[in-house]
Amino acid sequence: MTDKFSKIAKRMKSNIIRELLKVTGKPGMISFGGGVPDPETFPRHEMAEISREILENEYRYTLQYASTEGDPILKEEFIALLKRENGIEGLELDNLLITVGSQSALDLVSKIFLDEDSIYFVSKPVYLGAASTFSLRSRQYVYMNLTEDGVDLDELEQSLEEIKTRGDIGKVKFIYVISNFHNPGGVTISLAKRKRLVEIAEKYDVLIVEDDPYGDLRYDGEPIDSIFKIGGKDRVLLLKTFSKILSPGLRLGVVIGNHDVIRKMVMAKQAADLCTPSLTQRLAARYLQRHDIMAQIKPTIALYKEKKDLMLAELEKNFGDMEGFHWTRPDGGLFIWFTLPEGFNTDEMLEMGKSENILFVPGIAFSLDDTCKNSMRLSFCLPPKNDIVEGVRRLKKVIMEYGKE
Ligand code: PMP
Repeated sequence: MTDKFSKIAKRMKSNIIRELLKVTGKPGMISFGGGVPDPETFPRHEMAEISREILENEYRYTLQYASTEGDPILKEEFIALLKRENGIEGLELDNLLITVGSQSALDLVSKIFLDEDSIYFVSKPVYLGAASTFSLRSRQYVYMNLTEDGVDLDELEQSLEEIKTRGDIGKVKFIYVISNFHNPGGVTISLAKRKRLVEIAEKYDVLIVEDDPYGDLRYDGEPIDSIFKIGGKDRVLLLKTFSKILSPGLRLGVVIGNHDVIRKMVMAKQAADLCTPSLTQRLAARYLQRHDIMAQIKPTIALYKEKKDLMLAELEKNFGDMEGFHWTRPDGGLFIWFTLPEGFNTDEMLEMGKSENILFVPGIAFSLDDTCKNSMRLSFCLPPKNDIVEGVRRLKKVIMEYGKE
């Protein structure tokens, strides 16, 4: 039957990170691989209490199909949260769609915007989950290199100008960016760049897809206005998620945008899964009503900050004086992007890492063209602090051994 697979199915590849997660549980393994939150940070007692209550008292809602658009109570709460935390005003219920995590929102974005010849912009390195859904529909991606303060906007503008000159500007659908603490890059787009990005998008009449799963996990520095706030809902589609602030197991994402775009996404979602689970939506809604979610994540932020600072210190200690080794210094989020000198192939090093009981994600996983081979993504959120020290030591051993060959 495999010969019956569609062209799209034939292009599907297994997600390397999901594969890595399978060996993460091996005894003695230290994983800097998956960006999964520390389970100790989930407010499980509060969630258990609410779950019981909403199953018993609200079963007519929680055990029933929900509307495709999402739980109105959750949407109200999220609108209030966006206003309070991000200064975003003027949203109505029909500007929001609740999805099965941001990943399904990215999939819906592909479905409603991309044809085979559609052009879209992504960063290099690119978030694997976005790249995998976009590229199944169209291979016409254009890269913007990641820089310390976001993405290279000169490159973006130059590419858009070239595309316009050749008469293809109508094929450009969106610019996909991660505004805060990029996955895998760790970098944040500066305010100046956010403003310029909006200007460029307006000049060429292109949508910006702002993916922001990590914005609330800020450990250092001051929050920056979202691109959505700067550009408005007619120019920017904002993707948020509960995965990093409450729990990824709830599978809850929120898309915020112009009503017409949301309406079309609703239609695509009807065909995909009818609705996001009513139970987890109401659970999150009641959680938001009863608890201050931002106060709840404060200990998480303190914990991750310690781990991030420790990993940075260990990298400095082990690689600080080695030429050609550099890494990003994120102010939040879960990831550090570690680049080794040209010639290192982190994909080849992965097997050596596995035998030394250390996991990382090879850079190639974050490229659409098999580049980024001399980089790797390191996640500091899950391993205990001792393991961070030991893990960087093992990483150095693997790197030194590989370098000898
Ligand atoms: N976007 C980015 C940039 C991510 O890092 C992730 C999670 N790894 C997602 C989207 C998807 O998150 P979820 O589906 O859990 O909301």
